[in-house]
Amino acid sequence: MSDKLAILGGKPVRDEFLPYGKQCIDEEDIESVVKVLKGDYLTTGPNVREFEEKVAQYVGAKYAVAVSNGTAALHAACFAAGIQEGDEVITTPITFAASANCVLYQGAKPVFADIDPKTYNIDVKDIERKITDKTKAIIPVDFTGQAVDLDKIMELADRYNLTVIEDAAHALGTEYKGKKIGSIAHMTEFSFHPVKHITTGEGGIVTTNDEELYKKLSLFRTHGITRDKELLVNKEQGSWYYEQLDLGYNYRITDIQCALGTSQLEKIQKFIDRRRELVRKYNEQLSDIDGVITPYEEVYSNSSWHLYIIQLELEKFKAGRKEIFEALKAENIGVNVHYVPVYYHPYYQKLGYKKGLCPNAEKLYECMITLPLFPKMNDRDLDDVVKAVNKVLSYYRK
Ligand SMILES: *Cc1c(COP(=O)(O)O)cnc(C)c1O
Repeated sequence: MSDKLAILGGKPVRDEFLPYGKQCIDEEDIESVVKVLKGDYLTTGPNVREFEEKVAQYVGAKYAVAVSNGTAALHAACFAAGIQEGDEVITTPITFAASANCVLYQGAKPVFADIDPKTYNIDVKDIERKITDKTKAIIPVDFTGQAVDLDKIMELADRYNLTVIEDAAHALGTEYKGKKIGSIAHMTEFSFHPVKHITTGEGGIVTTNDEELYKKLSLFRTHGITRDKELLVNKEQGSWYYEQLDLGYNYRITDIQCALGTSQLEKIQKFIDRRRELVRKYNEQLSDIDGVITPYEEVYSNSSWHLYIIQLELEKFKAGRKEIFEALKAENIGVNVHYVPVYYHPYYQKLGYKKGLCPNAEKLYECMITLPLFPKMNDRDLDDVVKAVNKVLSYYRK
């Protein structure tokens, strides 16, 4: 291709910027929110319960507790797992900071296990190497939507008496060995941020089959306060009476948000089908480009695809990832990098984490680029992305 790169003053592949992710809201969604605004409850009301029931049913779990965002959901799960000062929790560095921050919130220590260079998910063998007598839990992340190897992780957890909190913020609708994730780990967290599979604006949920965990999660969402007669310490009180049994937070989600969530959930299969179709097209058109590595998926996973990430074989190019990234962006393609390894952040460096901790994760970070993926993307949008990748890489190829 002889087209001049946009970053060098040429005409961009697209006139309009294509974001990497975006929500999909229709008239039904809008109507369901307006209905709540005209009704009696704005916050905790019938729509919260309904949304929880629908999500639990969708993932095949007994219980669900919806909260204000996915990070709050992870925090609540850490609380319910009894994680506290002195404990260690193993997670991956290739994730959003929230997967590790939730451990710090509870005064415990995140321990990073390296990733598998093929799937980019946490390496189960490295989890086992990092287990000590302080380890209390594992927070595996279904990165990009691909399921972690849950059988192996649950087997480790059984053997070492650990709680598994699955961070499935990327993976609502993903199947592991033919079964939806959400009831396999002890607790599973989902996020409803606008770039995720369905949205409530901000929102998150924890699903579980364990009644004890369910009660703790519910308590944590509302300051640790309960009116449940079964839980009260002083039972002989009037009906006004409530008690704070633990230190919780206000992590409530509103009825407005949950009405949107329920309406969105009805369309999830359509959203996932479109994401899978786009990924198939990306794979078809990108896997033959010299210097590009497309995603690999294990047979046990059927991903619902939150992110589409390519790796660049940088030795084949005259430019580094940074230049290639900026060149794609100048073509009006909303590229991104997911993620900066968590322990690279200055806050974590100050806590004493050193670079070199997880070599596979660090190597992946150097050469990965996230391409746009969301259900509303049309085939022309996808063609533009492929065109831009070809244009930029052929210019920089050695
Ligand atoms: C989105 C996300 C979360 C939760 O984020 P919120 O914005 O708080 O809903 C947690 N972990 C990962 C990996 C995520 O991508």
